[in-house]
Amino acid sequence: MIKPEEAAMLLEAKGVKPTANRILVYQALHSQTMPMTLKDLETKMLNMDKSSIFRTLTLFIEYDVVHTFEDGRGIVNYELCGEKGKCHHHDNHIHFYCKSCKRSFCLDGIKAPHFDLPEGFVSITTSFVIKGECPQCSKKRRNK
Ligand SMILES: [Zn+2]
Ligand SMILES: [Zn+2]
Ligand SMILES: [Zn+2]
Repeated sequence: MIKPEEAAMLLEAKGVKPTANRILVYQALHSQTMPMTLKDLETKMLNMDKSSIFRTLTLFIEYDVVHTFEDGRGIVNYELCGEKGKCHHHDNHIHFYCKSCKRSFCLDGIKAPHFDLPEGFVSITTSFVIKGECPQCSKKRRNK
């Protein structure tokens, strides 16, 4: 578990005032290696009400503390930005959604593809989700 002082420092580096709630949400996201949905966070943070978690996440998005993408069900997933301080979006990577165990995976090593957009369109981030079956689930199926 990341220390509260450390979470506070990382939040400050993003330009976010580290309040108690913000530190808690940061720690919860940090404790997982996988992206989390609002529901995941709710189950993990039983002492905080849903609207406080949601408000914190909305602020986190604004300051690039977290990045979001929609998984295969159209549900928003949150993950911590991989860059300290201001995000330059070099942490952009693709995601994989397993339709069997309904988990999202970060494929950190694979950058989101770059598209040549029509004139005037300026891209900031690309959200790219591949749907299918994760190694665990596909192995289970093969062994049946
Ligand atoms: Zn980032
Ligand atoms: Zn799976
Ligand atoms: Zn990710």
